[in-house]
Amino acid sequence: MNQIQENKSMENVFHPLQTKVLEVISETPTIKTLVLKPPREIPFKAGQFMQLTIAGIGEAPFTPSSSPYNLDTMEITILKAGHLTEAVHNLKAGDWVGLRGPFGRGYPMEKFAGKEILVVGGGVGLAPLRALLNALFHNLNKFKRVSIKYGARNPSELSFKNQYDEWKKLSNVDFECTVDRATADWKGKVGLVTELLENTGIDMNNAYAVSCGPEIMLKFVTLKLLSVGFKPEQIYLSMNRKMSCGMGICGRCNIGPYYLCKDGPDMNYAKIQQYPDVFG
Ligand SMILES: Cc1cc2nc3c(=O)[nH]c(=O)nc-3n(C[C@H](O)[C@H](O)[C@H](O)COP(=O)(O)OP(=O)(O)OC[C@H]3O[C@@H](n4cnc5c(N)ncnc54)[C@H](O)[C@@H]3O)c2cc1C
Repeated sequence: MNQIQENKSMENVFHPLQTKVLEVISETPTIKTLVLKPPREIPFKAGQFMQLTIAGIGEAPFTPSSSPYNLDTMEITILKAGHLTEAVHNLKAGDWVGLRGPFGRGYPMEKFAGKEILVVGGGVGLAPLRALLNALFHNLNKFKRVSIKYGARNPSELSFKNQYDEWKKLSNVDFECTVDRATADWKGKVGLVTELLENTGIDMNNAYAVSCGPEIMLKFVTLKLLSVGFKPEQIYLSMNRKMSCGMGICGRCNIGPYYLCKDGPDMNYAKIQQYPDVFG
């Protein structure tokens, strides 16, 4: 079944659903979360992404950061990167955006059952991973342990700060974060997120690692995971390359034979490791 057939609940996959912005939350100086109220529920799997349109400006792919188990509203957390995302950062409650999707495959949650899941985020990369975390937390007893490792450039760029204590309180969940550069009042760890991947105590034979962040971070996280004993098939990477159509038609987002929009965006490293352009 192809993506178009999978999305059969939509009359026209190119037609965005007009969606109201309920709230805009400032996460960091460069990251905002839109709380959206679609006119109907949009079922999605953790890791699937939406195409968000601002009329007259354009469209770009973003992964919901909210729970796939709460479809009343959809949250999308967005870093100001350029033309469209700057317009997103100017949105206010009551404004309208277009949404179409979901696209992509989402994480293989059934494979993750019974395993330790190591979730490694960098910068705004924790946003797409938050949908996965919400899905893992929804059925926490199905997973052996969830370890979250998160890195940001500096303390003010750490997203979802008010949720860390909540996450740490959950049984079999641990959370650690680090910043590249500390400020005078920072009491936490300083260093790259890869440094949090040593001595995790994870049983490598019974674990999966999932990572999302800038391509350069994904590269070094992958090398570190391999060096500490993960096998390529145990590593899933969110390959957020430039995409346009979201359906494997335009051919802008391929790695080897795979279209990241339709075969990913979360790719098993074993499938893509032989291609020279994996990390851009
Ligand atoms: C599947 C998927 C999910 C994504 N989820 C999120 C998310 O949840 N939150 C979020 O903040 N961003 C996410 N992104 C990235 C987001 O789509 C881009 O930041 C956005 O398209 C930039 O649009 P713009 O018009 O503001 O930037 P532009 O004006 O087009 O570009 C600004 C700069 O960003 C670079 N750029 C543009 N798109 C990308 C990209 N996809 N990857 C790397 N660099 C890029 C450009 O080369 C340029 O340097 C996701 C991307 C994909 C493919």
